[in-house]
Amino acid sequence: MSGLELQDISKRFGNFTAVDNVRLSVPHGTFVCMLGPSGCGKTTLLRMIAGLEEPSSGRVVLDGGDLTPVPTHKRNLGMVFQSLALFPHLNVGENIAYPLRIRGVDRGAQKKRVDELLAMIHLTGYGDRPVSKLSGGQRQRVAIARALAISPKLFLLDEPLSALDAKLREAMQVELRQLQQQLGITTIVVTHDQREAMTMADLVVVMGEGRIRQAAPPIEIYRRPADAFVADFIGSTNLLDVEADGAGRATVLGRAVPGLEMPSGKNKGVISVRPEDVHLTAPAEGTVAGKVTFVRDLGGTIETFVEAEGKTIVAVTTPRERTGFSAGDPVGIVLPRENCVVLDA
Ligand code: ATP
Repeated sequence: MSGLELQDISKRFGNFTAVDNVRLSVPHGTFVCMLGPSGCGKTTLLRMIAGLEEPSSGRVVLDGGDLTPVPTHKRNLGMVFQSLALFPHLNVGENIAYPLRIRGVDRGAQKKRVDELLAMIHLTGYGDRPVSKLSGGQRQRVAIARALAISPKLFLLDEPLSALDAKLREAMQVELRQLQQQLGITTIVVTHDQREAMTMADLVVVMGEGRIRQAAPPIEIYRRPADAFVADFIGSTNLLDVEADGAGRATVLGRAVPGLEMPSGKNKGVISVRPEDVHLTAPAEGTVAGKVTFVRDLGGTIETFVEAEGKTIVAVTTPRERTGFSAGDPVGIVLPRENCVVLDA
């Protein structure tokens, strides 16, 4: 296969397993976001792909060739890490040209490539500026250009945008994705931020405790999470215990959800239903009756918190479909069968 393959990679530090038998195929040109709680092994996995950490077992294979024994500087990688480490004594152009210079590329070719890269990151004309005179977002773009200078086969980034404020980060996510699509380069980004992953990725890899919990396109992860851990980690969701009644129907909070059946062989589990899929109605018309405890109007969306049978359920609506409920109102909660995903507890 053309692309990257992680073949049963593990990393142990003493008795502790940081990465546990990870197997993943990444077709050429794919943008991967690795996501998961702190300490789940994302950075360790990225460092093994980069050759900065040796796997305890398993192989890293790129375009059919085994990279595992190849030292980092011969892996043909572009890397951007959280601490950018631009060289403060070099100007923008010299920073970008650095990897070319140390590879002995001649001056004319260096200049041509730097100009191409400056155009690509929308900083044409900035070559002679000291890096200290750049904004955070511009510095980030220079670090990206420097990593891409050698036209790497694989582009690895660890929390590249985490130092930027929220607005700039969102803009840079779009920019990074567009740049990656333009270049068609296989890219792996480690992030904490699930919105970032949803924005950029072709393939989202959710990790937990050193293992891959689910690897799938973003919308599939959102709509069809593999388990409650993934459902809760990606976006917000309502997780409610579900049980089969005598007829195999799924019951939530003591009521059968119309039309929802338990998967065969399953008696208990959890349903995940996204807040935007929960409908609120008159008390007698819902699957379950509850009481509004809090309404949060965020302008673009309205979140309504409802308590039912000791559980809090959140419904999100847009101002256009304003429900008009306020705290203290009795309501009916409708859990549409098609939006309920039954998962293992
Ligand atoms: P974060 O999001 O916080 O950066 P992460 O998912 O990237 O976390 P890693 O940095 O890969 O997590 O670390 C995974 C686990 O391995 C952690 O428990 C960490 O303490 C441990 N670990 C990482 N490097 C070493 C090391 N050199 N020696 C011992 N333990 C390590």
